[in-house]
Amino acid sequence: MKPILLAFGGHDPTGGAGIQADIETAIALDTHATTVITADTLQDSHHVHSFQPTSLDLLIQQGRMVLEEFPISAIKIGMVATTEICEAIHTLLVEHPTIPVILDPVLSGGGGGELSSDQLADAIRTLLIPLTTVATPNRSELQHLAPEGDTLQACGAELISLGCDNLLITGTDTPASDEASDQVHHQLMQSSGEQTAFHYPRLPHNYHGSGCTLATAIATQLAHQTPLSEAIQQALDYSWKSIDNGFQPGSGQHFPNRTKNHG
Ligand code: PLP
Repeated sequence: MKPILLAFGGHDPTGGAGIQADIETAIALDTHATTVITADTLQDSHHVHSFQPTSLDLLIQQGRMVLEEFPISAIKIGMVATTEICEAIHTLLVEHPTIPVILDPVLSGGGGGELSSDQLADAIRTLLIPLTTVATPNRSELQHLAPEGDTLQACGAELISLGCDNLLITGTDTPASDEASDQVHHQLMQSSGEQTAFHYPRLPHNYHGSGCTLATAIATQLAHQTPLSEAIQQALDYSWKSIDNGFQPGSGQHFPNRTKNHG
């Protein structure tokens, strides 16, 4: 039987990011996705305009019903939307402590536009980070989650000290000043102290939904019982190929092509 994933995330009507990205990635990687929508967003392929959180009662009941019926092998968390929803997801995670949790701390849309607030970054740090198996922040999300840190290493170390087992700091946003501009550099920090760097050629566009694709790809690999380092490598390869085969369906950002057979 296919392993089953539970994804918490927002609905993006463009189909580029959020829950649709999670479902497409899960299908491509032979995993069944169950889904709980945290918020409905208003956005185009340029930016996020606004969002409407899901009713808290409904969200908790949906999460509980799915977790009670299905043997969930991994939980992926994307857009959380509000501190109340963060608390609700925390409650559900505490009720199911053995399921690996993959957290993509979505704080803003790829093209700009807020999908959170400062209080939410705080709630994610204190409630979700300690229960996380793999978090995939980009550099700016990492700085929001660990505002005290004056280097990325210090910010990463802070999240690991809070209980996050593995942190994959993604580098698809803007290249750091000491980095080659034609490369993307991702850094894996582990609670064991091990660090691994991954390099990929930088692709020319701004891709909507690439963070969702990566985090869900990691979740599907863990759901398939792939060992962690290999899961991260395979998920990064899959995400890179999806954006290398990307397309521009509207007039804004490009979208990953997640369901093409990349061979
Ligand atoms: N989830 C939702 C619902 C979104 O609208 C977005 C971005 O707009 C994201 C997640 C994050 O997208 P990305 O994978 O581009 O970081």
